[in-house]
Amino acid sequence: MPAAIYPGSFDPFTNGHLSLIQRGLQMFDRLIVAILVNPKKTPLFSIEERREMIQGAVKDPRIEIDSFQGLLVEYAKKKKVSVVLRGLRAVSDFEYEFQLANMNRKLQPDIETVFMMTGEDYFYVSSNLVREVASLGGNVKGLVPQNVLTKLKAKYSGG
Ligand code: ADP
Repeated sequence: MPAAIYPGSFDPFTNGHLSLIQRGLQMFDRLIVAILVNPKKTPLFSIEERREMIQGAVKDPRIEIDSFQGLLVEYAKKKKVSVVLRGLRAVSDFEYEFQLANMNRKLQPDIETVFMMTGEDYFYVSSNLVREVASLGGNVKGLVPQNVLTKLKAKYSGG
């Protein structure tokens, strides 16, 4: 399959995201990792910081890192890509992802969402939880790439 868009907040980028990208690249020739710009949320890391994190963690020429605002289906149309890649961790992800995939299909019937299951090592890893644990001084080593770990430490030690 030629290309897919892997959209997300990636705030921060975790080993769960990384695992999905690595496995996605076995299915697709090219992946566009698309950072969602959400003006309603105050992120921990800026778009530029997140872009650098992903760049530092994924060294593969088949990856394009981009950002987008607004409707994913419009972005996909603009990029001329008709497949969206998403991850499923637990049943709790299912309901939201199911709604999202169907809404996107309603908006743009020729865009298909493909799901990959998380690896058993990362099924409990979310950006949310990583942020929370790191902010409380917990060690998230092994759950995020080394460059992200360094960034998190700097953020929470006031550096
Ligand atoms: P999160 O849900 O961790 O806050 P994102 O919104 O950036 O992060 O997630 C982008 C996509 O990556 C979603 O489809 C999400 O289900 C998937 N994803 C995130 N973490 C994992 C993981 N540990 N394993 C598999 N998929 C994941």
